[in-house]
Amino acid sequence: MFQKILIANRGEIALRVLRAARELGIKTVAVHSTADAEAMHVRLADESVCIGPPASRDSYLNIHQIVAACEITGADAIHPGYGFLSENAKFAEILEAHDITFIGPRAQHIRIMGDKIEAKKTAKRLGIPVVPGSEGAVTEESEALKIAAEIGYPVIVKAAAGGGGRGMKVARSEEEMRVALGTARSEAGAAFGDDAVYIEKYLSKPRHIEIQVMGDGEGQAIHLGERDCSLQRRHQKVWEEAFSPALNASERQRIGEICSKAVADLGYSGAGTIEFLYEDGEFYFIEMNTRLQVEHPVTEAITGIDLVHEQIRIASGGGLSVRQQDVSFEGHAIECRINAEDPRTFTPSPGTVTHFHTPGGLGIRVDSAVYSGYKIPPYYDSLIGKLIVHGRNRVECMMRLRRALDEFVVDGINTTLPLFRELVGNIDIANGDYDIHWLEKHLAAKG
Ligand code: ADP
Repeated sequence: MFQKILIANRGEIALRVLRAARELGIKTVAVHSTADAEAMHVRLADESVCIGPPASRDSYLNIHQIVAACEITGADAIHPGYGFLSENAKFAEILEAHDITFIGPRAQHIRIMGDKIEAKKTAKRLGIPVVPGSEGAVTEESEALKIAAEIGYPVIVKAAAGGGGRGMKVARSEEEMRVALGTARSEAGAAFGDDAVYIEKYLSKPRHIEIQVMGDGEGQAIHLGERDCSLQRRHQKVWEEAFSPALNASERQRIGEICSKAVADLGYSGAGTIEFLYEDGEFYFIEMNTRLQVEHPVTEAITGIDLVHEQIRIASGGGLSVRQQDVSFEGHAIECRINAEDPRTFTPSPGTVTHFHTPGGLGIRVDSAVYSGYKIPPYYDSLIGKLIVHGRNRVECMMRLRRALDEFVVDGINTTLPLFRELVGNIDIANGDYDIHWLEKHLAAKG
């Protein structure tokens, strides 16, 4: 087992990892920018190192500084959290060259899944159902029109190097396709420095359902069920739950088994998420995230398995602590991502939190690095906390969520709490009747 882990992240996820390490008796090193000197992850870690000025590229993305911090403190492993360097294959390779363990999958798997066309080819080869579309990148307009006609309109043109929902264009006819191809390519070129695009069938009312997987790197793997993350705004998840209100037990088992077998065959190591669009009873692979996700606590709530413990254990060579037959699912869980944003316009609202009171009681978990008097810096993403609620079934979970949201107090800044208070009382949400467009339509209708 590791002696000391450096956490190359900030905010709630840095605390999340720190807690797991502490439980396992492992010392922790926090790294921070000058803007985060007062942050909770710095206060709670055994040691801390300042790695640069506020801008992420100079601090949390500064590989040189992070490796130096490891060497100064004698940390033998790095947990990257999510975002920042968590899906950077080069970072994983550099750590290996310095004899520091990267708590995550092998660089080669990060690289494959980071390239959307390669990821899709790999998924297909491993028996994962994919969205019908082009076999790879499409450059010629004539070829694009031919493929689109074969799959049938509407289609979506996507950037191979895409991320964060950028470089995607929907086309409903041949005329629209000519335009979409041009705009998607120039947007992709400008945003990612690579104008390769590919084509997929456009699904009009899918749900976003993802499967949590874990592999030991030696051909053993498990799945931990699904999360439904269909409630999104601008492709950003807002509310996540498990189980999905749309799946039955046999569908869950079928897709879970496909995913765990694929991950085992790949020789994948650590935690990963295989993301699908789900429509009319069919799953369509969109991407695999080779890291821990923001919404992982939902899975922890229904399985009782600490995903960060597992990640650390696997990275240290100890394998998985559970087999598939040991995994059982209990009740229902929902996570609300609380952002420091105006609940109507969603513009960021950094500033000082004058009062912070979190809800408690049975089935309530709050993952946050905020405290009363904390000044939220303007440089990073606006997530300030996650409220995760567990109940014996979805009805109990929703009752408890409503109560917990009423108890939650964040003064001094705007947050998205009012949005959740409204969602928890909405009839479609109560019925679990929503797709990936529901939230934006709902917000647009409110004006
Ligand atoms: P990114 O990496 O940019 O987030 P994804 O491929 O994960 O791109 O897709 C992001 C979102 O775009 C999906 O969650 C979904 O809302 C939408 N999307 C992607 N592909 C399709 C498709 N074939 N049909 C309909 N919507 C899609």
